[in-house]
Amino acid sequence: MNVLRDRIAGSFYGLLVGDALGCPVEGYTPGKIRQIFGRITEMEESQRGWWPKGLHSDDGQQAIMVCDSILTDPERPGQVFAHLIVDMYQTGPKGFFKFGLHRGTGGNFRHTVKALSRGCKWNEGATVTAGNGAAMRIAPLALYFRDDLEGLARAVIDLTRVTHLDIRGLAAASAVAFIIARALSWEGKPAGLADEAMIEFVHELEERSSDLLQRKSNLHDFSEALRELFSFFDEPRQEVLKKIEEKANQTSLFPGGPTSGYVLASVMTSLYMFFSSQNFEQALTDTVMLGGDTDTTGAMTGQMCGALYGFEKIPRRWLENLVSFESLEDRINALLEKKISFRPKKTVIEMEKQWMEEFS
Ligand SMILES: [Mg+2]
Repeated sequence: MNVLRDRIAGSFYGLLVGDALGCPVEGYTPGKIRQIFGRITEMEESQRGWWPKGLHSDDGQQAIMVCDSILTDPERPGQVFAHLIVDMYQTGPKGFFKFGLHRGTGGNFRHTVKALSRGCKWNEGATVTAGNGAAMRIAPLALYFRDDLEGLARAVIDLTRVTHLDIRGLAAASAVAFIIARALSWEGKPAGLADEAMIEFVHELEERSSDLLQRKSNLHDFSEALRELFSFFDEPRQEVLKKIEEKANQTSLFPGGPTSGYVLASVMTSLYMFFSSQNFEQALTDTVMLGGDTDTTGAMTGQMCGALYGFEKIPRRWLENLVSFESLEDRINALLEKKISFRPKKTVIEMEKQWMEEFS
């Protein structure tokens, strides 16, 4: 078995597994999840309307598009990504709860897609958002630029600025990407990846994004919160989550819990769930059981854990219920071989159309 391929596949499928595992309970409190499902140890059917078991949402969809963007043009993935998200919107039904082939998108993302559809430039449709939408989809960039941190930093900025102008949104994506790139070849416990090199990478990316986008607000909020997290993450879990929540609420417009869509909440919590993980299954189950933005915390914890523990450690029963299972093999091989101008057997639109028809 090729160890590196196992870890690349682990990260990509880990993201989709975490997304699908979290979808049925998105927005629930931990108490409500326990009341309805007990402990989430299986892919569940949604108890509130249409959502097929094992189907991924926007997190997984956008990760596949990020993959196709980097494999088309590793130097300018942002332009390709901007085209793809518009194509996904224009192909497919529109209306109440329907946004083309996109599923489960947030308001800021839809705003960007509409602006791009009306003809604005690829890098002029972003909103000032510190939401977790950039971090949730970032894995393919790290899988491609796994041994080139400079290339990774450039790609993260180029791709993320399509949707996110707030430095915190970019910084959060860079932290997740950095962890994945290093976890692919890491042999020790996940906590060992929480070191100064990570903070430096994020700090520098904050500076570069700030210069490029000419934004100064909240410049080092994320790297500072990351440093704080490292200082207390050996404390009991409830304490850590409480501190993450308190820290996030100091800079958030809307107070929320540790798994809200704000990057200082949910991205920090997912990083913590990864650093404190014992194995893939425990980490994902515990993450989803925290409630809140569960599809996205699942996708974030999943892509990091998958890069460290590998594909073989993802529970088989979860994969067998995953709608996208076995459909990403050619993309995983292309990431492994760092192909350029790669054309997948099926485009993301062909795949999503097929899944949409299958389940509607
Ligand atoms: Mg989602």
